[in-house]
Amino acid sequence: MAVQWGYAQSDGPHTWFKNFPVVAGKRQSPVNIVSKESIYDASLATNRLTISYGAETNMLVKNSGHSIQVDASDQSEIFGGPLSGKYRLQQFHLHWGTTDDVGSEHTVDGTSFSAELHLVHYNFKYKTFAEAINKSDGLAVFGVMVTIGKEHTGFKHITDLTSNIRQTGQSNRLSEPFNPNCLLPDDTSSYWTYEGSLTTPPLHENVTWIVFSKKIHISREQLDSLRSLQNEGGEPIGNNYRPPLPLGDRKIRCSFKKRSNTCLNVPEMSGACYLVAGAVLGVAAVVFTRFLNHLNVF
Ligand SMILES: [Zn+2]
Repeated sequence: MAVQWGYAQSDGPHTWFKNFPVVAGKRQSPVNIVSKESIYDASLATNRLTISYGAETNMLVKNSGHSIQVDASDQSEIFGGPLSGKYRLQQFHLHWGTTDDVGSEHTVDGTSFSAELHLVHYNFKYKTFAEAINKSDGLAVFGVMVTIGKEHTGFKHITDLTSNIRQTGQSNRLSEPFNPNCLLPDDTSSYWTYEGSLTTPPLHENVTWIVFSKKIHISREQLDSLRSLQNEGGEPIGNNYRPPLPLGDRKIRCSFKKRSNTCLNVPEMSGACYLVAGAVLGVAAVVFTRFLNHLNVF
């Protein structure tokens, strides 16, 4: 029988270590992304992350008791960026707060967002998700930060179904073809990536995380419809996020440059460089002036 776990005081993340010793591992997720300590990696831009999602019909939307989850078939794949080989979309789900100021699993410079969308992919060399889930290079997950704003028309197809799947175990199918691409930020070229784990049991340490720097927006009504879903005990699902774990020795790479506060190792002239350059220019000016004097130009 599967081990019971949840997000309540009795079975929440602080208790997971009892059944999952990997909690003490060195590459657990989520983490707090400190943007100024992330390292720009030009190879991420040259070997571009490619997202090739297709529209699917009859996608299954279900209340897992921990989240809302939408299962994908095998039409959607990703490759490039930090990934070796092709990964296929297995499912996507969300984490959210009972209040707007919390909900995301990853935080950026200590800031939480109202929700976080996860798109879970498996390495296609393993043929199935079940085969890949415990392989060292088995999984790649997209993290998309969600804030409150305008209604998200793509998400509406999913949030419109919540009243039909209020109880744990209930499911419903999307009536129209749905392309998960509509849930991604407009710009998917800017992201952070690091080696981490599943954020829910069994917490396997085999996930290449790709967390986009651009956010998406959903309306408060849409977020409230997620909050209306119920867990196994009949309580509203919310605060279904794991708090950040220590980054340890890991480095977070980023695919994008920013002039300030993001990537430390973007080659830029340091203060010392400016001093040296100024001194060289000064000496050159003196030499040139002497040369001109020598020619009696003045
Ligand atoms: Zn997740």
